[in-house]
Amino acid sequence: MISQNHRLDQQLIEREDQYMATAARINYYDLVIDHAHGALLTDVDGNQYIDLLASASAINVGHTHPHVVKAIQEQAAKLIHYTPAYFHHQPEQQLAERLAKSAPGTDNEVAFGNSGSDANDAIIKFARAYTDRQYIVAYTDAYHGSTYGSMSLSGVSLNMVRKMGPLLPGIVHVPYPDCYRTLPHETEHELALRYFEAFKAPFDSYLPAEETACVIIEPIQGDGGIRKAPAEYVQLVYDFCHQHGILFAVDEVNQGMGRTGKMWSIQNFPGIRPDLMSVGKSLASGLPLSAVIGRREVMESLAAPAHVFTTAANPVCCAAALATIDVLEDEQLVTRSSNYGRYAKEQFLALQQRHPKIGQVRMYGLNGGIELVKDQQSKQPDPEFASDVIYAAFERGVVMITLKGNILRFQPPLVITKSQLDTALAVLDEALTAAE
Ligand code: PLP
Repeated sequence: MISQNHRLDQQLIEREDQYMATAARINYYDLVIDHAHGALLTDVDGNQYIDLLASASAINVGHTHPHVVKAIQEQAAKLIHYTPAYFHHQPEQQLAERLAKSAPGTDNEVAFGNSGSDANDAIIKFARAYTDRQYIVAYTDAYHGSTYGSMSLSGVSLNMVRKMGPLLPGIVHVPYPDCYRTLPHETEHELALRYFEAFKAPFDSYLPAEETACVIIEPIQGDGGIRKAPAEYVQLVYDFCHQHGILFAVDEVNQGMGRTGKMWSIQNFPGIRPDLMSVGKSLASGLPLSAVIGRREVMESLAAPAHVFTTAANPVCCAAALATIDVLEDEQLVTRSSNYGRYAKEQFLALQQRHPKIGQVRMYGLNGGIELVKDQQSKQPDPEFASDVIYAAFERGVVMITLKGNILRFQPPLVITKSQLDTALAVLDEALTAAE
């Protein structure tokens, strides 16, 4: 049995304490949403808010997009459900074909589920079934979901999770590259090599590579703080996997569907073809639908009843997903994510000039992590300040939350207009001043 890494656990517990402190403060604002369109939310009292959260990156094409609404209504009038366990329907087949083509590689197959969490459970199942190996390598700070399997993969909320233990055995966590707190003391190349050494360390001591089924990574971490692993590091891990017959799996639940300025976040890392990919959230514009997209040979290793959900591939959800992908393409939202992301980054960097508690601005597409710290020298997280900022923003009509307590999570719907973006940024400027 693999022993736990105590030092890492201790760091996670400390971060969780910060997170819980902020979560308690977020509950100060009690938002009951009545309706929403595009990037605007309206509460039951008629107050309007600019949404910088997009329902946790589940509404990339904007709230109640007319094309998505129409597809849902038409499909609901035709066929609300038939389980994919026995028969198929057209929305499911069309969506599987479209997803298979959209992902890297030419021989993809698709399996549907209901949530990002169950898609990550499926990754564990496919990887173990195909390789006939048990160990899985995952990352600190990763969030992969709240079923037992996906929770065991996750590297956050260890305190909370401990109370629900024992978790799934055979999962080893390695550190995710932290570019903010180590650069510029070393080059990105040195950092990539150092974290690759940390990745290999378990294999050099207690973890047999020949018994390891897969590595699962968010190439850009979502809940971990919108952090991008250096391309060289990802390539080194990918090559290591290939050398040892270990599958390379990526979680695109948060960062997929155009969020990072590419359809899938792994496409920011040229030349990498994952064996398995989990997708969800914005896939069906927030309706319960997820999928694993994977190499055919791997996907054929598992069939019902080992992997089946009665309500998976629901036709209404699949129709919503097809319409969502139409909107991403027709309105060129992936390019818009990239362009508006660049603009938003410039604006946040300008804010950083005036607000010394902005430690780092990370932005990959319309997808940012704005790290708030006690001061730029110590880089010490300031979760109290961050919670004051988001509360001040809420009072001024902007909805956003924090990640890990001190990081502003900036993930608006990709249809946000330039003027909404400018208004939100002006509000954040005011909120930062009010909280200082
Ligand atoms: N994977 C990632 C990267 C996520 O961010 C999330 C949710 O936040 C999940 C998986 C879990 O998805 P769900 O909440 O749909 O189960």
